[in-house]
Amino acid sequence: MLFSAPIALVPGVAAAPSGDSAHAGGGDSVAPASASVTVTRDGPETVRYEVALTNLSRTDRLWVVVGGAEVRTATGLTRTGGDGRTRLRWTGADVARVTLAVSVDADRARPERAATDAWAFGPVPFVEVQREVDGSVARSWPLTGDSVAGDRRLDGGRHVVGDRYALVGDHDVRTAAAAGQRFRLVMPVGAGSTVDAPAVLDALAGAAREFHVGDRDERVLAFAAPDPVRDGGESVPARDEFWVDADASLDSPENVWIHEYVHTRQSFSLAPEMRWFREASAEYYAARLSYEQGLVSRSAMRDSLDGSASAATLTDPASWPDRQTPHEKGARALAVLDSKIRDASLGHRSLEDVFRRLNSHDGTVTYAVFARTVAAVAGQPMDEWLDRHVAGDAPVTDDYRQSPLAAVGLPALDRLGSTPGTAFFLVALALSLLASGPLYAVIGRLQRREQRDGDRDDDGRGGERHSRETRLLG
Ligand SMILES: [Zn+2]
Repeated sequence: MLFSAPIALVPGVAAAPSGDSAHAGGGDSVAPASASVTVTRDGPETVRYEVALTNLSRTDRLWVVVGGAEVRTATGLTRTGGDGRTRLRWTGADVARVTLAVSVDADRARPERAATDAWAFGPVPFVEVQREVDGSVARSWPLTGDSVAGDRRLDGGRHVVGDRYALVGDHDVRTAAAAGQRFRLVMPVGAGSTVDAPAVLDALAGAAREFHVGDRDERVLAFAAPDPVRDGGESVPARDEFWVDADASLDSPENVWIHEYVHTRQSFSLAPEMRWFREASAEYYAARLSYEQGLVSRSAMRDSLDGSASAATLTDPASWPDRQTPHEKGARALAVLDSKIRDASLGHRSLEDVFRRLNSHDGTVTYAVFARTVAAVAGQPMDEWLDRHVAGDAPVTDDYRQSPLAAVGLPALDRLGSTPGTAFFLVALALSLLASGPLYAVIGRLQRREQRDGDRDDDGRGGERHSRETRLLG
């Protein structure tokens, strides 16, 4: 047994009404069931997870729902099918045990896995236990931090199992702390030659110190994943966990390490018309925070955010020519919006204040909420600009391309004309522009970005996983 934990009695979504909820507290009347988990490497292409449930005496009914893994064996459980997942029903035995196999064989369909003889990197399967006691259904997730806090080191420290990703086998762990956050960087043995761990941790720590948007959780778990894992990275914002391909460059405005870190700071819930904001903000702040740390030059940052005019409407995903629109037009729009907010507030406020308010917003962030938040932060409505460039199809570069001042990095005349043009204002403006940079060139995007971004950051999947954890399958 490598780790075990009591199964907390969490009232399910479909739990019986309040009359039964006394049992859901888990207190004195019902002893909690326990789960123990064993993780082992099982041949060159497989990682095996064994979940054993005990202390089931007061249980009326129990199900185990499995996703992202093949059920190899089940004891005390019988399969009842499922919608894309495997569903197993408890037979009443003293112990219920299920063995799961996760393939770590990298191929085109599964580009986020990799393995050598010494280690294997891949996703952690989804396992939900639904236990009914006296009419109340409690759910638990033996393989995630809902049951066991944080990442686990198993088998004498040979494996690191996060909520979503696992590195099974030989690895190194480096840590850093900054701004109340503790970073753990997990690298397969041998990856040390491609990953500059101190530099990666410096960059993450620097980003933590400079990025004031709330949702700053205590622990961040990062994996460096070597070939044949695809380029790019992937994060699970709700879990503060991500991986980045070990070859990813730190001195690039598309800094994937910082990009994925920014995702971990996103706790907002976005309405469909605001989905663009997730990737757009990660992309923009990857460039901006890289620049602020001196990892890239100002012109490199500007070039990366620049791009050809796009008539896509950010709030209307059906109008996007491809899934890169949020990374490109979205990030560009945020760069310009950041600059406008800094201008309007004489440098006192920025897009980070908007981001922070969206994180703490109670409920779903709609476009109306976004526009209202921008106005509150900037001290003046920016609806007209947002309606044109975010909820409309006007290319973002148009704001700057027409202006002769654009060529020297100053804002367009109409924006100066609309605000009191004092000398102080100009100085404040110039200072803020040093950091943010206006966007005006019409140079096409780097080819490299398209290759890299082809299949990255599956936030939708992270979100899906999160939502299926909150859905009861009683
Ligand atoms: Zn992303």
